[in-house]
Amino acid sequence: MEYIFRAYDVRGIFNKEITPEIAAKIGIAFGTYLKGEGKVLVGRDPRTSSLIMENAFISGLSATGCDVYSTGLVPIPTANFKIWQGGYDAGAYITASHNPPEYNGVRFRHPDGTGYTFQNEEIKNIFLKEEFKLSDWKNVGRIIYINPEKTLREYSDYILSKFNPVYEKFKVVIDPGNGAASLIAPYIFREFGAKVSTINCYPDGTFPGRPSEPNEKNLGDLMKAVVATGADFGAGYDGDADRVVFVDDKGRVVQNEKIGIIISKRILEKKKGIIIANMECSMIVESEIKKAGGTVKRVRVGDVFVAEAIKKYNALFAMETSAHYFFPEFYTFDDPIVVSLKLGEILSEWGLKLSEMVDEIPSYPKVMENIPCPDEKKFKVIDELINTYKNSGLPVDLTDGVKVSYSDGWFLLRPSNTTPLIRATVEAKSNDRLQELLKMVKKEIKTALKKIS
Ligand code: MG
Repeated sequence: MEYIFRAYDVRGIFNKEITPEIAAKIGIAFGTYLKGEGKVLVGRDPRTSSLIMENAFISGLSATGCDVYSTGLVPIPTANFKIWQGGYDAGAYITASHNPPEYNGVRFRHPDGTGYTFQNEEIKNIFLKEEFKLSDWKNVGRIIYINPEKTLREYSDYILSKFNPVYEKFKVVIDPGNGAASLIAPYIFREFGAKVSTINCYPDGTFPGRPSEPNEKNLGDLMKAVVATGADFGAGYDGDADRVVFVDDKGRVVQNEKIGIIISKRILEKKKGIIIANMECSMIVESEIKKAGGTVKRVRVGDVFVAEAIKKYNALFAMETSAHYFFPEFYTFDDPIVVSLKLGEILSEWGLKLSEMVDEIPSYPKVMENIPCPDEKKFKVIDELINTYKNSGLPVDLTDGVKVSYSDGWFLLRPSNTTPLIRATVEAKSNDRLQELLKMVKKEIKTALKKIS
């Protein structure tokens, strides 16, 4: 049971790991954490089990005394917007993000719309120890339903008020992957002045068009559609619509850091400041942001940690390798819709093609590999590697696992929170060097494993 509670959220297979009964108990645990007080906004993605999960969850939550406002099926950034703008005391969103359709879960939200970090651990403890506090019959919370269309309208109006429309011939292809972005992305782009084509653009929790994760493997249809329609770019979203991956006008999937760099350059033209990137991001971030007059701060992987860092550093923009982008001029949480419109605005105003901008930025080979390592040993292995590299004279960064830098590359090793794996990210200036570093990393992990056994 414990493993469904993760660092950023709760997640598991519906009716196997998370049943309606468990969803109700998670609601009670969350309400107990909130001391049975205040207004909580709840939203959900289009998974087949999301309405069941939501009903069970809000029953538990309102039974503790919290007032629940359900805005139903909307993208997660729209729910976050409503929490932030509506003065709610907390929020929750029913989703398993980009996971396969059989999964579901819950993500908890602060009043500013950003995700819980260590608070997830407190909710987990209440749940596991069953330290539930239910209200008496007179003081149960109210359950109020908010029209999702009204929430979507408020969200669109707020975002569009901050943009100038694109030039009249601007064309995009939208691929929400039958996720929550189906309800907003095409409409907001049309109001933005763009010509819009769509694929996989109606909510369907079985994800019939493609797997929910927007990556190169899953975006083949979008790549073809961008070329076929002569679009300026394509945008592919995940199930709850907090990730977006772009396809350029030549039909190529663009490395997420390059999108982050293009947007950062635009921001830095007007104002100098701090750009945040997680530890997995390419070394091109430092070189390109420095050229544009900005400063890069690296942070722990995970959108909830990035949001915390934005507040701490008063940053101008933040990016993650996982295609989360943060635009604090709008709000502190990540929003792929805002970033999509921003990219349209930049291309429209600069009169450049996305492919040209992408090709101006250097590309280095980079891999991410999962290396099996027993759960009870993975943290010790990392500690052992930290000791090894601390004495190596090389620059070592311990922000998230261990990162070691060379003049022509780097590697990052992080123990997975949920699975018996060490996640290795390696980047180098040449393919040969990349293979050399990867081989070395695997050997070092083996040696460390032997040493601690
Ligand atoms: Mg997601």
